[in-house]
This record gives sequence, C-alpha cells and structure tokens, in this order.
Amino acid sequence: MVTIFGRAKINLTLDILGLREDGYHEIATVMQSLALADTLTLTQQEEGITLRVDLPGLEADERNLAHRAADLVMSECGVRGGVHIDITKRIPVAAGLAGGSADAAATLRGMNELYALNLSDEELCRLGAKLGSDIPFSIMGGTVLATGRGEIMQHLADFPATHVVLAKPPVAVSTPWAYRSYDAHPAEVHPDNAAFLEALARGDRARCAELICNVLEPVTETTHPVIGDYRARMRAHGALCAMMSGSGPTVFGLFAEEGAAAEAAAAFQEETDADVHLTHTVGRYGV
Ligand code: ATP
Repeated sequence: MVTIFGRAKINLTLDILGLREDGYHEIATVMQSLALADTLTLTQQEEGITLRVDLPGLEADERNLAHRAADLVMSECGVRGGVHIDITKRIPVAAGLAGGSADAAATLRGMNELYALNLSDEELCRLGAKLGSDIPFSIMGGTVLATGRGEIMQHLADFPATHVVLAKPPVAVSTPWAYRSYDAHPAEVHPDNAAFLEALARGDRARCAELICNVLEPVTETTHPVIGDYRARMRAHGALCAMMSGSGPTVFGLFAEEGAAAEAAAAFQEETDADVHLTHTVGRYGV
C-alpha cells in the first residue's frame, strides 16, 4: 500500500503567447505548489482499477484522471495486477487549482512505487503529458516556469515561503471556455515574466508580488465580477497581492505573516460564500 499527496497549484503569472497549429495555446506561466493536497492511497489488487472518492458528485470511474493515469501506466509498462485508489479530496474541483492533475500525478508516482517500476521523473512526466498539460508540473512541484502547452518546465528557485489564502466563489469556470473567451478578447496587459524571474532569483517577494499577472483574469472576471470583489477584499485584509489562479474562479492572496492570513481567511468565511482554504507555498520536494 502507498499513500501519496497530490498538491494544488497556483499560477503566479500566466501569459498566452498565441494559438498553435495543434489547437492548443502557447503559454508561459510561473506555477507554484501549495501544501493544500488531496490524499491518495493505492493498494495492490489482483486485477483491474477500482476507485473510491470521498466527494459526492465527482466521477469515481474511468473518467476520473486518477483512473486514467493508472490505466496508462498499466498499459505502457505492462503491469500485471490491478490497483484500488482511495482519494480524499481537499482541493476544490474546477477551481483553477489543478486538482485533477494533482491526482493524476500522485497516481503516476504511486503506481511507480507500488509496482517498483523504476520510472524516472522524466518518464513519469512524459506519461503525464499524455493526459494533461498541467500534470508534468504536478509530478515535479516547487516553483516552475512552464512553457509550450505547459509541459516544458524550467525549475526556478523556490518562491520565498509565503502564506496563501484561497477563496473560491460558488461559480463554475470551464478551462476550455476561458481560453475560447480569451481568443475573442485578448488581454491588453501581459505579465513581465523576465522581470518576475529576475526578482525571484533575488528572493525579492515584494517585487514578485508587484509583478503577478494572469491574462485570463479579465475574461473570467467579465462574466464573474465576484472575482474582482474577492481581489479587493483580499488586499483590504492585508494581502501583499491578490489574483485569480489559472482559468479561475479561485482568487488567491499572498501574505508574509501567518496571523494576517488567518484573519483574512476568517473574514472571507464570515463575509462571503467562498470555499476558503488557508495554506502555504511548498518547494520542489514538498517542504
Ligand atoms: P486546471 O486548472 O488544470 O484546468 P481545475 O482546477 O480548473 O484544473 P479540476 O479540479 O482539475 O479543475 O477539475 C476539472 C474537471 O476534471 C472536473 O470538473 C471533473 O469533472 C474532472 N476530474 C476528473 N478527475 C478528477 C479528479 N481526480 N479531481 C478533480 N476533478 C476531476
């Protein structure tokens, strides 16, 4: 039996550079792992894949990304035997926090351990990329500049340890919808990734906080103005900066002090309908 965490991520910057011939968008994004994680327990069984998810309404069959990841490893590596996967969901679903990718990545790592497959990180990432663009990042974790479809990764210095408040408004955002809307209304303001990387290399969190920028935020916010409201609230409660993660709708706030983050989280809980999580950044090896 193996127990693995599948960690949530936020995008500290997210730029769209253009539309590719394969239909995907060319992106350049700085991604950051968080301590907030789903827990997956994988147990060997004679044959087949079975799944239990503790969140009613979330598919617990072959459509689940953890199931698809197990299926992929088993067929590509000729695994003889099966697996039961038990998922405790903590990452809000369809939130811009890559919860499904986190579960797929944890399953790939878990299967590698459970069946002693000796797959390298690079091989795991190659498998992960077949299932989703965010999965290679979820396998590696830490602070990464992801380019291409998001599957080409450059490891960066860990973002300085920071407390993070996540607030997901009660609205659903589909990632394909957000990208399509972007094509119709491209952003006027883009992140300066070069400047961000320079500030990060200096460990200058204050400058990084000034440079966070997500080109999908204006499109998602036009349809869901609550995102602008949450950003303003986050800042009013002392966040260094606040922004939407991925295609949304979750808004994150970065805080230097744990006390201030806890107060902001409590205020969100009291004043809004948000699904609120108090967490912190983690480096490449989960610390
Ligand atoms: P991303 O930022 O990568 O687009 P997201 O955080 O917006 O992802 P997810 O939580 O990954 O969204 O969920 C997107 C959809 O994927 C869900 O609506 C759900 O139907 C499907 N899904 C499949 N497997 C899982 C899983 N293990 N956990 C969450 N969602 C899953």
